[in-house]
Amino acid sequence: MSLAIRNLVLERPDGVHLLGPLDLDLAPGNRLGVVGESGSGKTLLVRALFGLLPAGVRQVRGSVALQGRPLAGPEPPPGLAWVPQDPGQALNPLLTVGQHLALLPWVFRKEAARQALPRLRPLLARLRLPEDRAFLRRRPHQLSGGQRQRVCLAMALSCDPALLVLDEPTAALDRGATEAFRDLVLELQRERRLGFLWITHDLDLAGAACERLLVLYGGQAVEAGPASRLLTAPRHPYTARLLAASRGEPSSDGGILGAPEDRPPGCPFRPRCGRANPACIPPVSWRAGPVGEFRCTDPLPGPD
Ligand code: SF4
Repeated sequence: MSLAIRNLVLERPDGVHLLGPLDLDLAPGNRLGVVGESGSGKTLLVRALFGLLPAGVRQVRGSVALQGRPLAGPEPPPGLAWVPQDPGQALNPLLTVGQHLALLPWVFRKEAARQALPRLRPLLARLRLPEDRAFLRRRPHQLSGGQRQRVCLAMALSCDPALLVLDEPTAALDRGATEAFRDLVLELQRERRLGFLWITHDLDLAGAACERLLVLYGGQAVEAGPASRLLTAPRHPYTARLLAASRGEPSSDGGILGAPEDRPPGCPFRPRCGRANPACIPPVSWRAGPVGEFRCTDPLPGPD
């Protein structure tokens, strides 16, 4: 299943820019990472994909299409599934594991739990979760953090999607559990020929999981290209900053991304950028490099 986003622009009703213009393509079975810090627009992008834009956010331009068909309305698109950021919040504390697993097959296929649960047993085993009745009767607080996240993954896979949106799925996990989860998703991706969009603030993690990366800052796409290139020769200063942060290197930059209404005209990274110059004040266009694209008037040296 292919995903195509064209010229997507999101704003507040008062005209304050939130995201875009954004173009994004994901071919069937491909792995794309969308990387940025809090406030970069990642979460809005996920919500736009599922028709769940919050009140006070409107789509003023652009389109999102799955397999060439535009997404319309709040109906969850078939074939597309979401793995949430915080399984502690996503799972209902009153429901058992079995009730969670039976939920989406019933909603999307009208498949009863007595049929869905036996069908999903091999999936539970594949996700290294117990398949016995005692486990299906447990509630979320009786699971480890890793088990909760794998239950969310099992729910997302319960209706055999072609495309997964992984929304910071490892945010609540430690490094070891993060790597185990990443490896499991990569195995499933190969076995099921899944495409995925992995949303994260961790450039290193995205680089290890994805073929291509798109970096967002302040609601703008600032760099895109093969993961191997962005991890070795980032052209945009913000990508270089993210890379240093994901490797635990100290940063001289104590700045934070401002609220949307406080962002400067032109490049939103200007207040934090040591290379800022007068050409960064008007809107900065995409520039195609030999390997990927970036939006910067004074890029870091690259492979050209
Ligand atoms: S050099 Fe200019 S365009 Fe490039 S990141 Fe810095 S402020 Fe933005």
